[in-house]
Amino acid sequence: MDIAKVIVDVPAKDTDRTFDYLIPDSMRTWIEPGSRVAVPFGKRTVQGFVTSMQPEAEPSRFKLRPLQELLDLVPPLSPDLVELGEWMSERYACSRILALQAMIPTALKGKAERYISLADRPVADEAPADAGALLEDDGMSDPVERGIVTYIRSKQQVALQALSRQFPQEAAVIKALLRRGVLQESQTIRDKLQKKMLKAVNLAVPVEEAEAALDDFPKKAQRQKEVLAFLLERKEFLPLPLKEVLASLHVSAAAVKALENKGHLRIEDVEVFRDPYRGRYFKPTQPLKLTGEQQYVFERVIRQLETREQGAFLLHGVTGSGKTEIYLQTISHCIEQGRQAIVLVPEISLTPQMVERFKGRFGDQVAVMHSRLSGGERYDEWRKIREGRVKVAIGARSAVFAPFAKLGLIIMDEEHESSYKQEETPKYHARDVAIRRSHQHGAVVILGSATPALESYHAARSQSNDEFAPLLLEMHTRALGNTLPEVRIVDMRDELREGNRSMFSRALHDGIAGRLERGEQTVLLLNRRGYSTFVMCRSCGYVAGCPECDISLTYHQRSNNLRCHYCGYAAPAPEVCPDCGSEHIRYFGTGTQRVEEELAKLFPGIRVIRMDVDTTTEKGSHEKLLTRFREKKADVLLGTQMVAKGLDFPDVTLVGVITADSSLNLPDFRAAEKTFQLLTQVAGRAGRHQLPGEVFIQSYTPDHYSIIHASRHDYASFIRDELNHRRSLHYPPYCRLIMVTFSHEQLPVLVRLAENFKASLEGKARKLGWFGAMDRFTPDVLDILGPVASPVPRIKNRYRFQCMIKWRGQIDAVGLVRNVVDEMADAVQRQHLQISLDVDPQMLM
Ligand code: ADP
Ligand code: ZN
Ligand code: ZN
Repeated sequence: MDIAKVIVDVPAKDTDRTFDYLIPDSMRTWIEPGSRVAVPFGKRTVQGFVTSMQPEAEPSRFKLRPLQELLDLVPPLSPDLVELGEWMSERYACSRILALQAMIPTALKGKAERYISLADRPVADEAPADAGALLEDDGMSDPVERGIVTYIRSKQQVALQALSRQFPQEAAVIKALLRRGVLQESQTIRDKLQKKMLKAVNLAVPVEEAEAALDDFPKKAQRQKEVLAFLLERKEFLPLPLKEVLASLHVSAAAVKALENKGHLRIEDVEVFRDPYRGRYFKPTQPLKLTGEQQYVFERVIRQLETREQGAFLLHGVTGSGKTEIYLQTISHCIEQGRQAIVLVPEISLTPQMVERFKGRFGDQVAVMHSRLSGGERYDEWRKIREGRVKVAIGARSAVFAPFAKLGLIIMDEEHESSYKQEETPKYHARDVAIRRSHQHGAVVILGSATPALESYHAARSQSNDEFAPLLLEMHTRALGNTLPEVRIVDMRDELREGNRSMFSRALHDGIAGRLERGEQTVLLLNRRGYSTFVMCRSCGYVAGCPECDISLTYHQRSNNLRCHYCGYAAPAPEVCPDCGSEHIRYFGTGTQRVEEELAKLFPGIRVIRMDVDTTTEKGSHEKLLTRFREKKADVLLGTQMVAKGLDFPDVTLVGVITADSSLNLPDFRAAEKTFQLLTQVAGRAGRHQLPGEVFIQSYTPDHYSIIHASRHDYASFIRDELNHRRSLHYPPYCRLIMVTFSHEQLPVLVRLAENFKASLEGKARKLGWFGAMDRFTPDVLDILGPVASPVPRIKNRYRFQCMIKWRGQIDAVGLVRNVVDEMADAVQRQHLQISLDVDPQMLM
């Protein structure tokens, strides 16, 4: 194989393909699909990824150039990830290079310096006189191998290029030594990422010899004997950090030094993997005896794992039904099979509680990928996965790319969470990527949630043959046998009518007062996603909505009018309520800070922990606040969505939702679904243990079906109503969406180009016979809404317009849209237009 096909890091339409490069002899042994290389590109040197090797280059008018440099000895991407990148680029209409780069830690996106040194383990730093003998112990009787090892030892560490110059013919031998762990590569990627080294103690002789030596210690050397015995007791954990040995035994370094001089042990420098959870104790847990419902689910998943064939399940289980225990036990099984598992959690619930449960069961076999980790920490966790030092990776969205060799299980907890969708390019959804990877590996996917996304539930129920359709498994009861908390809807219009202008209803007020008296705790949710600028009447609950699209109109302060962000409908903002004539009509939004102030006024001395974006910016602050709450150092936990997810506190007996309406009225067709999910999640925080729970949902629209069904914990009825709704308005899951956003500095230019786009797309779709209005009966159809101004109509002096494309059926809508966008490349270049595509968008505002 002489030619490497390389995807280069030059983000442009013309470069979104592979380029051919000659593989120089010195690199031949090293280049694999997934290798990261530096290549000449024009006058520059750029980074790229090898996708395949070929015997011959494709005909080209350019002269072939050789690869310039290999950037990692072990490729950061495996062949299956390279293939996954290809798939992502098609599905999400993004460039291949961005898809591939999304899979590796940021630390690897720069330029790396690489060195080869002896592996830490086999040989001591200073070569003893009988180095030859030592080498033979390590299985190195081969003179070439020995030559290389001796050379490297003399230099401590050698840059790869220098080593290749010294041993030009021996690349294969060097590679083998690396694979056997005799040599190791180290990378210096922007100094921060250097490996951390630590003094550690190890045996210098075989275990039996050391054990025999124990009997020979003189009386006055009892301390030394203790040290040796200590190491022997822990022989499977060697080498042990020197500090730890000294501290455990209360001995001085002199005792250890003496043992080293006697040749029993040695002190060496070992690499420490920066572990963000280092020093934290996780209480080990044993598998629980499963309940009947859990057992059924467990066995079904295990059966699938046993086949080693792909399978996906949607695990719909009420809050507290014990989904986590199922995750833990199926992972155990997967590990026993010799395979690895990925656990995906929404970023926001990467709380100590989730990590604790996995670390508690699997200890050091777990790597945690947390966005709050430093670049170095993330890189280390990632390497633990790639090098097979861990069996389980837990993390947010991007952990779906964890480079495990034998992936057996991917778990996605709270699968309905919108954070699984990346909002920057590549705009992938981790759910789809997870299922795609499961097909590549013959792995099993479990999507778990108390409130599955409509798309998932619909796919599971309709039993379609779609490769992404999961099988439905349900759990209806809580594992601890307690009932779901009672939920009361409080009609805030009544409160106003009866003279209560406060944001707390009398019922919620009394509820909090009672908790304070009894020393129980309260969780308060301020339901506020994004900026809510809808107009609502506080007297009757009327909300201004679009007559065409059935989403709330957004209030624009500057023009004092209301607009629909899907179709462009506009109307002046009303002075009085069109329904009841009340003047209490205004646009909405309450901050957590205001709630906190009001609490302090109503309940002097109340201890409140406020959790929102302002109080959780610092690393670890989220955890700290929750720990304080758990330790009962506060009466109330007040916050945004963050307080709704996955928390399990025994003394929380009251949950209050300040206003359910704010998320209900976002200009997003998923508003009802998001509200239902949020209310169900937060209600599930109350009364999870012995004490019974109570929930108050305050609302100005208490008759809304998503509030009523959430108050009854009735997912099935909600789904029924919501699916009907979606069907009649032609929203997903009854069609798919592509959002195309245009931006330009000049409004007239922008509008013209956006109109051009629409005309061109419509023309092509017509020719193909795809274009038409969405109705219930057309199987293959594509419709275009807009162009209209985007919800945020101007960012950084650039105006923004968007087209929403609705489509369904066996048509390549993404390909067609991309095609039209590509044809506009000229306008993009010359007129500085920006176009971005979002396939299956989640955030519509
Ligand atoms: P979910 O993730 O479905 O909301 P959890 O996994 O948090 O539910 O479980 C709720 C509670 O029930 C936890 O305290 C958990 O330890 C407990 N639990 C789960 N399964 C069992 C079981 N089989 N036996 C006893 N307790 C269980
Ligand atoms: Zn009104
Ligand atoms: Zn509209």
